[in-house]
Amino acid sequence: MQHHEEGSFDYIVVGAGSAGCVLANRLTASGRHRVLLLEAGPEDRNLWIHVPIGYAKLFVDAKHNWLYTSEPEAELGGRSIIQPRGKVMGGSSSINGLLYIRGQAEDFDHWRQLGNAGWSFADVLPYFRRAEDQQRGEDELHGVGGPLSVSDVSEPHPLCEAFITACEQAGLPRTDDFNGQTQEGAGYFQLTTRKGRRWSTARGYLAPARKRHNLAVTGNALTTRILFHGRRAIGVEYLKDGAKHVARAHGEVILASGAFNSPQLLQLSGVGPADLLREHGIDVIADMHGVGADLQDHYQARFTYRCSERITINDMMASLRGRVGAGLRYALFRKGFLTVGAGYAGGFFKTDPSLPTPDVQFHFILFSADSVGQKLHPWPGFLTSVCQLRPESRGFVRIKSADPAQAPAIQPRYLSAEVDRDVTTKGMQLVRRVMGQPAMKRYIVEETMPGPKVTSDADLLAFARQKGTTVFHPTSTCRMGSDVTAVVDERLRVHGFDGLRVADASIMPTLVSGNTNAACVMIGEKASDMILQDASAKAQMPARAA
Ligand SMILES: Cc1cc2nc3c(=O)[nH]c(=O)nc-3n(C[C@H](O)[C@H](O)[C@H](O)COP(=O)(O)OP(=O)(O)OC[C@H]3O[C@@H](n4cnc5c(N)ncnc54)[C@H](O)[C@@H]3O)c2cc1C
Repeated sequence: MQHHEEGSFDYIVVGAGSAGCVLANRLTASGRHRVLLLEAGPEDRNLWIHVPIGYAKLFVDAKHNWLYTSEPEAELGGRSIIQPRGKVMGGSSSINGLLYIRGQAEDFDHWRQLGNAGWSFADVLPYFRRAEDQQRGEDELHGVGGPLSVSDVSEPHPLCEAFITACEQAGLPRTDDFNGQTQEGAGYFQLTTRKGRRWSTARGYLAPARKRHNLAVTGNALTTRILFHGRRAIGVEYLKDGAKHVARAHGEVILASGAFNSPQLLQLSGVGPADLLREHGIDVIADMHGVGADLQDHYQARFTYRCSERITINDMMASLRGRVGAGLRYALFRKGFLTVGAGYAGGFFKTDPSLPTPDVQFHFILFSADSVGQKLHPWPGFLTSVCQLRPESRGFVRIKSADPAQAPAIQPRYLSAEVDRDVTTKGMQLVRRVMGQPAMKRYIVEETMPGPKVTSDADLLAFARQKGTTVFHPTSTCRMGSDVTAVVDERLRVHGFDGLRVADASIMPTLVSGNTNAACVMIGEKASDMILQDASAKAQMPARAA
């Protein structure tokens, strides 16, 4: 195979996803550092990336999606679960459901309590604000003028209104901001869109930075290995157009390849559980059992309904007239179903009133299908899903081969912790309570799944095992901390190494209570500050010594 030397950079960022595009932008802003951004996927030119409803198409699009699946899951009757991940500029922020949720303040305070200085909510709030361009304007929790556009849904919808009213009738509060003083309540989601178009990090962060002379962006480039000199990362090897390339980093290599690929890349490079690496003939540089361990994810159970009125996305999609009409409304006014990705409305609730914060999230979605990514039902339909917010089940990511092109084994071990089974079941009972309220009744012809026969806790749990699926939030596979299996320290430096950090969903010590994109953007923002601070501290060192 041909081998090309691609020159040297101050920083090499591997992965142009939610966090990677933030890093590429912030690290090049001063003009002082040369940065190479490597991305395995192509440019984000496909129309369906930019029209929010295209979300559904990207589920099965091998050009822009890694299309992973989990290993058979013991608690799910041996089922494998789909694990989509963005493989394109913008990463998963280019294919995700667009919901803008940060998590609870208590999640970050918990990270701090685990020993991670600099990660309490008060510490990370400035980064959420700095990232944000909030349509509603600025306040103490929200920012304006940042690269990440956050917008309200284009218009209310009668079914969402009914759902929110039903929550109130069930004694659950209404809220107009899930990222406000408290997360609890039912309401409309805000979306990472601008004027009805998806606002991925490729759009918000990468596009403006690409004009800078000190940023090189290389797409369709699969990074295959980190190069080391002793315990110092000095560059990477990658494959592009069938040839092997080498790029050198004087400063740092920063992995932002996501919760599946960052640990995979470390393992392929000799950093991981020694027994696993030896099994695949990889020389061990550091025996680190935490690399790929502790995978967490949100697991959802979905209730589908046949609707009494033809006002759902199923109806729009069923007829040419509906599709053309929706297309015209979108083209002319940037309104309607095409502006919405996954959830339209939703809620964060406590399954037990004595809890300090919500422990389940509802997504209220204006279409229905037998399972995620499948054909929509040929009747008017909608669905409500529920997930437990702070699962205790932890699984792993482990290479299955020394070949970087082979997918790793992904095993979230959904529902393996008792509390996860318990809260999921209670959350399902709560869905039933809400959907049984007068406001929803006029719209529900029948609950098609799980159906009226499934009522006991045991039967609901059995249904969750048979039909539940991921909410697409894998995290924590290169966990931040100072204990023996933690992979990175609180400055996101890989323990025991120089010039090597991880900055993406993998570093979360625990999964946040909500959708994960905003937190990954925040991680990219905070990581870039720490990298630049460390660089300037280093630059001053010889002067001080002199
Ligand atoms: C279908 C779906 C729906 C979702 N819905 C929502 C939602 O509505 N709201 C929300 O907040 N979150 C949502 N999420 C989750 C959220 O988008 C992710 O948590 C977040 O984008 C992860 O960011 P990241 O930076 O960790 O990784 P990613 O954004 O996945 O980026 C990793 C990047 O690294 C690249 N890469 C990987 N390996 C290599 C390699 N070896 N060489 C070069 N490049 C590599 C990948 O191609 C990718 O571009 C969803 C996710 C999915 C998949």
